[in-house]
Amino acid sequence: MSYQFSIDAERCKGCGLCLTVCPKKVLQLSDTVNSVGYYPVYRARPEDCNYCGLCCIMCPDVAISITEIQSTKDQTEVS
Ligand code: SF4
Ligand code: SF4
Repeated sequence: MSYQFSIDAERCKGCGLCLTVCPKKVLQLSDTVNSVGYYPVYRARPEDCNYCGLCCIMCPDVAISITEIQSTKDQTEVS
């Protein structure tokens, strides 16, 4: 099973709540503002992410999402 991790930088208001709960210190705030003037979060160390989902749960603006990706092999096994 693999996962797709995405951050909607335009939704993010740079509050930093997700940073505080990430057990792997994956996330950081960007030094570039989004279109509404906030510094959005980004995955500075994606290789350390364990896809625990804590950042998604914590974000009050639903700016982070993690989606399971079915591999071709998985789909073959199901059908
Ligand atoms: S899914 Fe977990 S490890 Fe990955 S960035 Fe979010 S809180 Fe950190
Ligand atoms: S909790 Fe949500 S709004 Fe706050 S910095 Fe993280 S992604 Fe952005």
